[in-house]
Amino acid sequence: MGDEPGHGTVPADCAVPGKSERHAGREVDSERSERGGRFILDSGAERVRDSTLACPQNAKTTGYNRWDSRVFNGKAMRILVSNDDGYNAPGLEALVGALDGLGQLTVVAPETNCSGASNSLTLNRPLSVRQAPNGYYYVNGTPSDCVHIAMTGLLDFRPDLVVSGINNGANMGEDTLYSGTVAAATEGFLFGVPSIALSLTEKGWEHLDTAVAVARQLIGQQARRPFARKVLLNVNIPAVPLQALQGMRVTRLGKRHPSEPVVKTSTPYGDPVYWIGPVGHVSDSAEGTDFGAVADNIVSITPLRLDLTDYGSLDDMRDWAGTLCASL
Ligand code: MN
Repeated sequence: MGDEPGHGTVPADCAVPGKSERHAGREVDSERSERGGRFILDSGAERVRDSTLACPQNAKTTGYNRWDSRVFNGKAMRILVSNDDGYNAPGLEALVGALDGLGQLTVVAPETNCSGASNSLTLNRPLSVRQAPNGYYYVNGTPSDCVHIAMTGLLDFRPDLVVSGINNGANMGEDTLYSGTVAAATEGFLFGVPSIALSLTEKGWEHLDTAVAVARQLIGQQARRPFARKVLLNVNIPAVPLQALQGMRVTRLGKRHPSEPVVKTSTPYGDPVYWIGPVGHVSDSAEGTDFGAVADNIVSITPLRLDLTDYGSLDDMRDWAGTLCASL
């Protein structure tokens, strides 16, 4: 892949934190530097930020909308925040901090860690929504349950954006099919809302501040320049110091080999049980892939689609099934 728009390392709109030499004339936002390292916003962003209508006098000090609600281009952005690691996860708190001041936030997240939940909805029991002292709503269900309930029953407004994360670990290649982080974003997308899934590529939260900085830049960009079309973005942020990031790249999904085998063990009573094994090794990490970007310390942004139809197989399948149908 070259550096053409949409494929190569994004040179202009996605200002690269810590790469001030590539962004002469841009200002470091010192106001935010203590939270997530250096932020470099373009002059347009500064203009918008200067004209925002902060309403701290209206902001509640408690409750789910206790954060400042600011107006971008005359419109307050309402952001639904979720994750799959649970409402107590450090990545969720970090994401809320990253979005501080970018809009009105509502957090609806699973009560417990639901990593690997994929797009599952809980259909065999009713679900409860409770509110934590910090204002977050939490649900005894899956990430998809959370966003589904928020979109269809809990919120009295339609969010402008759904953001999910920051996940404890990467979601690249086929991981996206299993990911609860991506699923929460997917649920928003299914209801017609632009949605972004954010993942830090290594488990353990080291360099979470890097993901915070990237999240703030991405969502800030969305506030200044909303997506031209409805999108579902899968973003993977290398777990490296902010200064080590090499930029952002729009990518396609890479591929893994099939997963490692299950691990068979037994209960104290002698019954066999199985642990699902780890993911397979990477098989496609070409430069244009998410794996390739992250390997180069580049933030990977993959636009996803949900139509699973294999269009290339349609004609062959019609031939194959044609004789079958004729024999019925
Ligand atoms: Mn997770």
